[in-house]
Amino acid sequence: MLVTLKEILPEARRKKRAVGAFNVANYEAALGVIKAAEREKLPAIIQIFQRLFLSEKGSDLAGTLLRMANRCTQPIVVHLDHGGSLEIVCASLAAGCSSAMFDGSMLAFEKNVELTKRAADYSHMLGASCEGEIGHVAMGDENAITSVEEAVGFYSSTGVDALAVSIGTVHGFYKSKPKIDVARCAEIAAALPDVPLVLHGGTGTPPEDLRSVIENGVSKINIATEFMDTFLKSTRRELDALDGKFLPIDKFMDPVIDDCAAHAARLMRFFAGK
Ligand SMILES: [Zn+2]
Repeated sequence: MLVTLKEILPEARRKKRAVGAFNVANYEAALGVIKAAEREKLPAIIQIFQRLFLSEKGSDLAGTLLRMANRCTQPIVVHLDHGGSLEIVCASLAAGCSSAMFDGSMLAFEKNVELTKRAADYSHMLGASCEGEIGHVAMGDENAITSVEEAVGFYSSTGVDALAVSIGTVHGFYKSKPKIDVARCAEIAAALPDVPLVLHGGTGTPPEDLRSVIENGVSKINIATEFMDTFLKSTRRELDALDGKFLPIDKFMDPVIDDCAAHAARLMRFFAGK
């Protein structure tokens, strides 16, 4: 069933678990997540890149995801990832997303607070949930670590339902082993004992670090690059196996969907401590 972050993350935080948030841009990868949720009997978050809402792709995809979420027996959130403007947040909610992230992390603190609060208020008015980000999970800059003071100030001024913090992860594949600041994560979690924290840049983060941050307040972990990479590698393998012969696309995609489901299920189990 379709739910918001509010219905799954506070409980996950209390139980020291995390829910996997998978970026998808097509039906087959999304079906992999839904199959994994059904198989593992665990909730999941399906995320749409904000750029898709710059064209009709975002609302088209959201419509499909809503249908899939509603027929799933497990709680599923359909969420906007890294909304870069209030217009995009509104577009995603108008398309039926049950949750939206506004990312003002590149803005000055006051501006980030102001716009994120508006995004959160608007989301709540529509019965949706909202994620904000303080400190920047930079593309390759692991030094922009969120301070406890800014996390507390940002949360209390915006009322977001989930708070993305920067604790050493980066988006995409790592070029070298990341240094995850588990101590800072624990300090932020202690200062905000009921607030679900979000880890962006989950791809390639060592499992022992993921386990540590889940123990210390992280209850949503974003997985984009490595999940899309599974889709691409699997598609390439199936294409090579065809060796130029024809196969209807639905049949061609079945093994790819299975690989996506296996990948999502493995992460969901790990995040849930199973
Ligand atoms: Zn992110």
